[in-house]
Amino acid sequence: MNKHDVIIIGGGSAGLGVALSESNNIQKSNNVKNRKILLLEKEKLSSKTSNSSLRIIHGGLRYLQKMDILRVIESLKAQDELLKAYPEHIEKLNCIMPLKKFGLKSKYPMICASILYNMISLLITGKSNGAHVGKIKNHKNNIDIINNKEEYALFWNDALLKNPLNFAKDLKFELIKKGIEIKENQHVLSVKKENDEFIVTSLSEIGEKQEFKCNYVVNTTGPWYSKIEESHDIKSENDEFKWCKAFNIILNERATFSEAIGVFGEDNRAFFIVPRDGYIAVGTWYVPFNGSLEDITPTNDELQAFANSFNKVNLNLKINKNNIREIEAGILPMKGIGSAGPTLYGLEKISVKDNYIKVLSTKYTTFLAQGRKVSKFIK
Ligand SMILES: Cc1cc2nc3c(=O)[nH]c(=O)nc-3n(C[C@H](O)[C@H](O)[C@H](O)COP(=O)(O)OP(=O)(O)OC[C@H]3O[C@@H](n4cnc5c(N)ncnc54)[C@H](O)[C@@H]3O)c2cc1C
Repeated sequence: MNKHDVIIIGGGSAGLGVALSESNNIQKSNNVKNRKILLLEKEKLSSKTSNSSLRIIHGGLRYLQKMDILRVIESLKAQDELLKAYPEHIEKLNCIMPLKKFGLKSKYPMICASILYNMISLLITGKSNGAHVGKIKNHKNNIDIINNKEEYALFWNDALLKNPLNFAKDLKFELIKKGIEIKENQHVLSVKKENDEFIVTSLSEIGEKQEFKCNYVVNTTGPWYSKIEESHDIKSENDEFKWCKAFNIILNERATFSEAIGVFGEDNRAFFIVPRDGYIAVGTWYVPFNGSLEDITPTNDELQAFANSFNKVNLNLKINKNNIREIEAGILPMKGIGSAGPTLYGLEKISVKDNYIKVLSTKYTTFLAQGRKVSKFIK
């Protein structure tokens, strides 16, 4: 039976983040030089939730609303690291959010927020973000879907992942070069603990069962995590997560702009409109989920609720059943339900039990830092 030091199960952004961190540890330290690390993925790398992301690599400006400065810092660091390390996959994204007349999202609070954000950005990345408030009509590009050009808007810079599947392909080459073994189309059936070791059983594409032994297991299979936990001693006490279905709609309309546009619907639900391969992606809508993972396609009612809320926003862009090109959905852990629908966890959930590490991610943006956090539990 093959023996590994670490087996990572799941090759979405969470699994890739752990693999990258571990690959850097192999390179860095002589005393762990011969560690064997294997990543097993049921399908293709990043083909599930990670491929349904709206692809915004958030710099955390939104967390200023709750004065969560630590999360702003964490997001700015994560964004800066990705922009520098993978410029061919992650590019700058100009963003614009039309402001309200009154309240926290109006002109003067947003001027204060942009000054603070620029200062934090300067401290963390060495550069001001360039966030500012101005009239929409004075913006260098005419964004045709915004109706009222007399309004003020907040302008800032974020980042966009061009294509999660292409990014994963390049990460795979990087990881293989650094000594990580990667097997795709390997469906892990079970993880068992026997004495001090784990036995991981998987099924290959051609129906061949394989067993692997290892000292550490990192389970990054997201909502599927409990399906592989065979023995009782690897389940953790607080395993009762609530879930939500998150989805984006890609419209048939051509994007005539290159910016992402942030707007707020009824109940203060936030929407982002993002150019996607020449078309327009709108997201993200969240609904509580307790159905079967076999079919997570949004129902007609769920699509209608998304459209109803979005269509009330003052934009020259509407969703109707005839202009939906594609829908992308994923299941994420949720904290609870607030007035604007499901609320997500601010940070990933990492649980550790006797060298069995489970990671539930809520953001693509922070996947590298998340991988490094996991590595701290691996000796
Ligand atoms: C609609 C939507 C929009 C989003 N937008 C953004 C955004 O704009 N910015 C952002 O930062 N984040 C965003 N997110 C969040 C982000 O996409 C996720 O947090 C992240 O991609 C989750 O990664 P993951 O690796 O945990 O999950 P996944 O990508 O689902 O990876 C889990 C992997 O495990 C594999 N697997 C499952 N069972 C097994 C098994 N038995 N054996 C082997 N492999 C198995 C699966 O095939 C899958 O590839 C969004 C999420 C959704 C759903």
